[in-house]
Amino acid sequence: MYKPFPLLKNNIRNQFFKMLFTLILIFIGMVIIFFLYVKSSNERLTNEREEVSAKAQIVSDLAESYNGIFFRARGYYAFQDEQELDLLYENLEKFELLLDEFAQFPLTKEEKVIYAELMEFHQEYKEVILPKAISYVEVSDYKSLRELSSGGTNDLVNKFVAYTKEYNKQTENDLKQLFSKILEQAQQITLLSLLLGGLVLLFVGMIMRRVLLNLIQPIEQLTVATNAIASGRFIDLGNLVQKEDELGILANSFYKMTLSIQEKEEVLTTQNEELMAQQDELQGNQDQLQHSLDQLQKFNQLNHVLTFTLDKQKLLADLHKYLNDIYAFDTSILYLVEGQLYVSKGLTKQSADLLVENFNEDKQVRLEQEKSFVITREVTLTSQDIAQQSYFSYDLYSSVLNSEGRLVAVMMATREGHKYSTQEIEEINGLMNRVSIAFERILMYEEVERSRQLNQNIIDTVNEGIQFVSPTGDVVLINEALSRIIRYHHKMDNQHVAQWKWLKHFEAITDQPEELTFFFKNAVVEDFEDTRTIRYSILENTPVFVEVYATSVYEGQEKIGTMFVHRDITREYEVDQMKSELVSTVSHELRTPLSSVLGFTELLLTKELKPERQKKYIETIHKEAIRLTNLINDFLDLQRMESGRQQYKMEQLCIDELAIDIVNRFRHEEHHRVHLVDKAKTVNIMGDQERLVQLLINLIGNAIKFSPNGGDVVITLENVPNRVQISVKDQGIGIPQNEISKLFQKFKRIDNSARRKIGGTGLGLAICKEIVTQHGGDIWIESEEGQGTTVYFTLPVHHASQTLEEMNVAIDEAGLNVMIVEDDLSLALLLSEELKSNGFTVIYHDNPKRAFEEALHTPLVGIVIDLMLGDDIKGWDLVQLLKETAQTSTIPIIISSALDESKEYVEKFKVEKYFTKPYHPEELSKILIASVSARLSNENIVINHHPSNV
Ligand code: ADP
Repeated sequence: MYKPFPLLKNNIRNQFFKMLFTLILIFIGMVIIFFLYVKSSNERLTNEREEVSAKAQIVSDLAESYNGIFFRARGYYAFQDEQELDLLYENLEKFELLLDEFAQFPLTKEEKVIYAELMEFHQEYKEVILPKAISYVEVSDYKSLRELSSGGTNDLVNKFVAYTKEYNKQTENDLKQLFSKILEQAQQITLLSLLLGGLVLLFVGMIMRRVLLNLIQPIEQLTVATNAIASGRFIDLGNLVQKEDELGILANSFYKMTLSIQEKEEVLTTQNEELMAQQDELQGNQDQLQHSLDQLQKFNQLNHVLTFTLDKQKLLADLHKYLNDIYAFDTSILYLVEGQLYVSKGLTKQSADLLVENFNEDKQVRLEQEKSFVITREVTLTSQDIAQQSYFSYDLYSSVLNSEGRLVAVMMATREGHKYSTQEIEEINGLMNRVSIAFERILMYEEVERSRQLNQNIIDTVNEGIQFVSPTGDVVLINEALSRIIRYHHKMDNQHVAQWKWLKHFEAITDQPEELTFFFKNAVVEDFEDTRTIRYSILENTPVFVEVYATSVYEGQEKIGTMFVHRDITREYEVDQMKSELVSTVSHELRTPLSSVLGFTELLLTKELKPERQKKYIETIHKEAIRLTNLINDFLDLQRMESGRQQYKMEQLCIDELAIDIVNRFRHEEHHRVHLVDKAKTVNIMGDQERLVQLLINLIGNAIKFSPNGGDVVITLENVPNRVQISVKDQGIGIPQNEISKLFQKFKRIDNSARRKIGGTGLGLAICKEIVTQHGGDIWIESEEGQGTTVYFTLPVHHASQTLEEMNVAIDEAGLNVMIVEDDLSLALLLSEELKSNGFTVIYHDNPKRAFEEALHTPLVGIVIDLMLGDDIKGWDLVQLLKETAQTSTIPIIISSALDESKEYVEKFKVEKYFTKPYHPEELSKILIASVSARLSNENIVINHHPSNV
């Protein structure tokens, strides 16, 4: 709270109040004087003005009543009216009264004379003239009256009127004078007010000066002193301290404060110095702590690596870094003996390699015995760089030994001129012991991993699918074969697959989910001990059949899981299937004709029959024998074809001619009309006539056989790119969708009531497929049950070996360029002669790289490549390059090689033709011409399909 100063005699407030009081007093005094003066002069001037006005009024009234007197008198004289006379008296009285009033004013000399004269006139008129006049009127003596009137009175009247005029003028003058006097006075007052204002300002200025002297100056002095103190100097406050007011006290206190600050500053400075010293000490401690903390952190990181890493290289690198960080080696190498790995610092690769190679057995033995040692060497002046004195260099060898005491790794570290302390060596040795444990752990892990990998590899190479399931039902392991069989393509990555998950997968792929789930669940439980088997099939286009057996796996007495072994038995299943189908077919197809043959022969043998009957029976026997022969022929044909023993006599054929011939053979069919629609422009093929006839007869035979109600059988020929497509369409019973794909299997027949009566072996379509495949074509069926069936097959078009001119090929501007890549010049010449004679342009290269570069920008109709080119790019590499490059991928490639044909590469790179040397050059022309014309006919066919584009 603010506490006022104790009252001082000379306190600033009193001084200020005193000055203010005096100023107010003076101001009030001057204002009163000024006011009084203005008031009195105002009053005087008002009186004067009133007096002049009043006097003027009375003079004017006197003149009026004077005139009135004469006016009334004349009225009376004329009319002798008493009322006029009364009014005359009234005027006389008023005149008298006015005269009295006039006499009250201070009068000038002239006015006094006029007054006396008017008084006298009044007296005389009242007492003498008027009574006389009345009497003359009463007696009507107008003559005397006229004489009386023309007496001296008129002079007086005139004089008075003159005076009144004069007086009015005078009064006007007086008033004017008075006005200018007032103006003058107002100016005086303004002047006085200005004077008064100036005086007041003067006083205020004086007071301000006093205030400045008494207040501001000392305050300024104090401010200077304060600033001086703030900047560390001291200023003498002089006489300010002797002042007896508040400022004096302030200055005094300030002075005392300064002294005390001075004292305290000294104390503080010493304290501060002490604190600084303490802080330095603390900083030192903190640095040391930080250093220890850093080391601890590094050690911690290393510890983590030592405990957890399974990577030798990382362990080596981290350990080496740590040791270098902590012990500041100049050069060092950490060398893992087994595996010859090392990490180094301050060494070139060359010298590090040398050091490792020369790490001799003596040192190894010494290390195994001593664990670590230091070799001290003197570095002489000649072998050092910039050092001015010789010094010592310390080489530390510290080892990591395994549990058998064998050397695992060694740390070799040099410090120049900086000795190893015993504590450091102990620390390093201690660390190395821990490292040895870490290495052993890693080695152990690697061993385990190796054997695990070996196991996995063994399991993966087994053909059977293996699945190991824990007692809780989770899959712990599956091998690649199982993934393949059951189409489980998720990576397991050593993670367990929960039971519900893998069971769900099995349920989704099989057609007997419940049985399979039951089997699996049953086998996983603990009390399942024996071995059980189940078969299941996987739903695919061609179903896969699998047999799985489950067996428990034990560790000692305890069951640790169940092993399921899945075996793909599709092939066996199919063979089984085929076997049973064969048996049923054979039993049916053999037994039926055989039983008729047997029956009829028995009849013929035992009974006497009429010759016609005999003939009929023998015809039946013959027919059945043919049926049997056909069956056996079919069977043998297929057998031959499948074993590859079937010889195909390939020749140039026209498929249309063949088709016409065969259709003709069915001319006599009663219930079926077999006819041909030929839309094919290109009909040349290469084929075995006999087999193709067999193929067509089989298909048309089926078409007739499976249309028991008759109908048309249409054979259509047409071109598809590079091929002729032949279809056989009937209006028969059709085939159920799900059976279509199976029908090309041997002995496969559809077993239903509609077909039971129709005989067959189930070999026909299998034979057809074999024949078509051998001709490089495809075969397929389109059918709908009850709607008829169409069997299609295609055959590659064969382009006869005409020359290009014969084929009338419009050779475009780019020409028909063929590239020959061949390093045998004579063969290249031979080939090029042949090709040129057929209208080709030949580009020859013996370097595959350049050949490739040229192929990139030259249009080519084919490239003939020799496989052994003796360059860094081999023939197949060139082929691969050409096939992988977009610009060259479509150029037909012909291999010309002394090596035997490699089917794998030919298929992989879609090679047009593989010629094994020696071969006839004409063959090459034929292939190239065929390829060019095939390309051209392709283009034609496209146009035919879209006539609107022409
Ligand atoms: P096969 O005719 O001797 O029985 P195939 O191999 O020729 O043997 O035919 C296999 C099966 O395909 C036949 O049993 C028949 O069920 C079916 N099949 C073949 N061609 C036709 C067709 N045109 N129409 C209906 N079913 C056919």
